Amino acid sequence: MSYVIDAPAQPVLPVSGSELSFPVHRIYCVGRNYADHAREMGHDPDREPPFFFQKNPDNLIPDGSVFPYPSQTSDVHFEIELVVALSKSGKNIPENQAEDCVYGYAVGIDMTRRDLQGQMKEMGRPWEIGKAFEHSAPCGPIFPKSQTGILNEGRIWLEVNGEIRQDGNINQLIWNVPETISYLSSLFELAPGDLIFTGTPAGVGSIQKGDEMRGGVEGLGEIKITVG
Ligand code: MN
Repeated sequence: MSYVIDAPAQPVLPVSGSELSFPVHRIYCVGRNYADHAREMGHDPDREPPFFFQKNPDNLIPDGSVFPYPSQTSDVHFEIELVVALSKSGKNIPENQAEDCVYGYAVGIDMTRRDLQGQMKEMGRPWEIGKAFEHSAPCGPIFPKSQTGILNEGRIWLEVNGEIRQDGNINQLIWNVPETISYLSSLFELAPGDLIFTGTPAGVGSIQKGDEMRGGVEGLGEIKITVG
């Protein structure tokens, strides 16, 4: 195949314990998926249907990266999240088959221009400028499910400059991983290479240039990102 311009690079994540990489197709994110975070954002955490937004695959940055402070904002928030990586395609996947689509898991941070997101919410406009900007998706290596087993509990945490800011458990997800995959697959045809950022527990907050974020999910190691 010849192209009229250089073909864009395939975004990838490393696979823990392997020389191989995981090629990323789409990035779906779940909004308000922990009750305590829904409350802190001023919403009723009743079990409404999940809602989704997307980031761009080339928004990913690996563990150990510098996150450049983005433009047009003065309020950039961290959101530590469990990330699920899919290895199978499907539409209308039943909950009891959803785990079969999971290749593995990673630790991600959904970086958010909170001020721009807030303005877009108020105006009833899309969230992309708040959520889907360059470098907005720090993500650690993928841990294959064949090594971790199915993850449905474990501490999820994030600290800034050594001070703990978010501290929850993935068993507090309002919509758990199989429910999320099943619901998402009723809206989109899921594909191998898709990532799902599953939402964040309470404690989100601002970062400043020079801050160091460190976060993890039990069983998936840690991710460290410096704000540049
Ligand atoms: Mn999020």
